[in-house]
Amino acid sequence: MSQITNSVHTAGAILSIDLDVIKSNYQRLCQELGDVPCAAVVKANGYGLGVGPVATALWQAGARTFFVAQIDEGIELRAVLPDADIHILVGFLHGSDDAFRQFNLIPVLNSLDQIDRWKGRGRCDVHVDTGMTRLGLAPDEVDQIPDGLDIDVLMTHLACADDKDHPLTHQQIRTFRQVRDVVAHKRASLANSSGVFIGPEAHFDLGRPGCALYGINPTPHQENPMQNPVRLQGKIVQVHEIDTQSSVGYGATHALEAGQKLATIAVGYADGYLRSLSSKGVVYIGEQEVPVVGRVSMDLISIDITGLDCEAGQLVDLIGPHNPPDRLADLCGTIGYEILTNLGSRYKRIYKGE
Ligand SMILES: *Cc1c(COP(=O)(O)O)cnc(C)c1O
Repeated sequence: MSQITNSVHTAGAILSIDLDVIKSNYQRLCQELGDVPCAAVVKANGYGLGVGPVATALWQAGARTFFVAQIDEGIELRAVLPDADIHILVGFLHGSDDAFRQFNLIPVLNSLDQIDRWKGRGRCDVHVDTGMTRLGLAPDEVDQIPDGLDIDVLMTHLACADDKDHPLTHQQIRTFRQVRDVVAHKRASLANSSGVFIGPEAHFDLGRPGCALYGINPTPHQENPMQNPVRLQGKIVQVHEIDTQSSVGYGATHALEAGQKLATIAVGYADGYLRSLSSKGVVYIGEQEVPVVGRVSMDLISIDITGLDCEAGQLVDLIGPHNPPDRLADLCGTIGYEILTNLGSRYKRIYKGE
């Protein structure tokens, strides 16, 4: 199909997402969970990768239980997956009765007030706060949950899941076991992506991974068991042969010598290429690593291609096998989640394995 706007010819960069890799990451998580079923967290537009294609792929891979953060995300997901169980982490917000009913959504109730307002409306989840102080009932409130509440998933969330030796992790698991033993429910769930890799004591009845599906390393101190489904190729729009001492970009932060060669790429912070990657990011041209030089601007970055043969129109890897989201995140002091969820809307998106 040819189109004029948002094509490989008109976009500044091409974002390729391999849905087969996301499916195989789901299978890998299922394998880690053994007999325990695996839900899929697809909040924030499927961690930036596009909730439609991502959720469809996960459904094809066997996922039936989906979590999103917001009610509007649940409504959007319902149009994609008519038969999925869709759970809303933010809970039963005031005035959202019609949305839950009309789109058959399940709220993760996080306070006695939400429970009181939901009671009598059918299936729900309950979130218990075992140590994160973010969402959920305090453990000493659970004895006030009314009899007859139809609780599907009883859940909690780890604050330090990627550090399985953290004392808080063990304490949260202990507290959650006590709560599970006194609250009637169908399925207990604690493990996010990192939690899945803690081992069976964290699995309970349902895994709840997000980031690992999308290739983020759930075991940051060990080799990544997941594969990266993302490739971002930025387009060179101009090549500069430097013939006199000068500088590049806003603030003139990076000095240039005669003989250097730069390329300007049509991607900037407006596309989610974080400004904190200024003079820190790395790009790949084939197997060759090339540094980002000077400030990232709104629509452009500059790379030092001294010694390389490059031309306008050529694509370079801004994210790929050698510089996956976790590596870019390390370079600028953030986490892979933030790199993914910032991926911009101007890219030409191509889905493989659809
Ligand atoms: C986002 C989220 C998850 C998924 O976490 P990952 O670290 O991405 O695997 C699971 N549970 C809750 C409550 C969340 O907010």
